Amino acid sequence: MALVNIHFLNLQNNYLFADIAKKVNAFKVLHPKAEVISLGIGDVTQPLCPAVVEAMRKAVDEMATAEGFRGYGPEQGYNFLREAILKNDFAPRGVRLGIDEVFINDGAKSDTGNFQELLHWDNFIGVTDPIYPVYIDSNVMIGRCGTYRDGRWTNVRYMPTTAENGFVPELPKGRPVDVIYLCFPNNPTGTVITKQELRRWVNYALKNDALILFDAAYQAYIRDPEIPHSIYEIRGARKCAVEFRSFSKTAGFTGVRCGYTIVPKEVSVATFEGERIPLNQLWLRRQCTKFNGTSYISQRAAEAIYSPEGKQQIRVTIDYYMQNAARMLSVLRGIGYECYGGENAPYIWMRTPDGTTSWQFFEELLYGANVVCTPGVGFGPSGEGYVRFTAFGSHEQTEEALQRIAKWKNLH
Ligand SMILES: *Cc1c(COP(=O)(O)O)cnc(C)c1O
Repeated sequence: MALVNIHFLNLQNNYLFADIAKKVNAFKVLHPKAEVISLGIGDVTQPLCPAVVEAMRKAVDEMATAEGFRGYGPEQGYNFLREAILKNDFAPRGVRLGIDEVFINDGAKSDTGNFQELLHWDNFIGVTDPIYPVYIDSNVMIGRCGTYRDGRWTNVRYMPTTAENGFVPELPKGRPVDVIYLCFPNNPTGTVITKQELRRWVNYALKNDALILFDAAYQAYIRDPEIPHSIYEIRGARKCAVEFRSFSKTAGFTGVRCGYTIVPKEVSVATFEGERIPLNQLWLRRQCTKFNGTSYISQRAAEAIYSPEGKQQIRVTIDYYMQNAARMLSVLRGIGYECYGGENAPYIWMRTPDGTTSWQFFEELLYGANVVCTPGVGFGPSGEGYVRFTAFGSHEQTEEALQRIAKWKNLH
């Protein structure tokens, strides 16, 4: 008899974006003429930059010849891309890594979800709250999170990041956490971590022999020169941290698919006997078994964003989104809303007024202004009382949505 992995049955079915779509569809049935604008989308909208398109065309042309054809590539990725990453993303920030510490993937979602496989099932995980749901759900699937009660998993340490603590999570007290997920700049709050605060986490991990899984998917949006782009800018981090990066938000690769993970040779975890096992070798072994590499075309596309033209072109698109973010902050604050993020990340995290719940505000905004936001509580219990707006729309749609929100707010 084939038995199911019962941990999958523990997953919570209410998938946030499916619930939103259901409510938006219900609204559209009632109001077929209304034009709904979404500031809830977590996907980019601007086209790939010319340098990337040209590189992809060239790669396709190569593949069309007997001499240029490529079949299976190295599971860890092609060296041309790994070298470009080290030279452009790390060396200028004073971070020296080896080429075999870079693992190319098909996007950060896969690796942020898969990496926990290398760890014993009863490690105790800690997450900042609210959070990108992949971190918890992937741990639920392996039975690491306990049971779900009152909006929380019993065996997960939630570390609130809210306006009350300035979106700076407190170090865990009591039972030490073994594995810590950090995401900065943060999705959904759009807030960042300073070097000083990040150093506290690295020191905590070193002291408690914990592992930090650091998601830097939004590092390209950082404007403030004091904010770290990589956890390896902190001394000691290469002993205790793995870092995930993605070209999705950096260069519009959500449909192309390419990202990478840094697993330094010094990061190791323990056996019960106290032996140290380097994660780099384990991850390589895992990838060689379960992953057959990212497409050559996607990797050539990613390489192109490090050319002088590519760098300049992706900057233009990021600036475009960040102009939306600035405009959103200015209008929403101007009409009296309390807003966070949006300065070093493409997300605005807004407190709902007068203690309205996230879902209540979502519906009021949908019916009152025909604008869609994302209810903060969908990202975790500390997201209650907030909504998320994204800056990934066009200037025109963003402006129109803001005007509608302002008009609707004035009527109240
Ligand atoms: C979008 C996003 C990613 C990247 O996902 P890809 O699989 O690379 O497209 C990773 N982490 C967070 C928090 C994200 O929002």
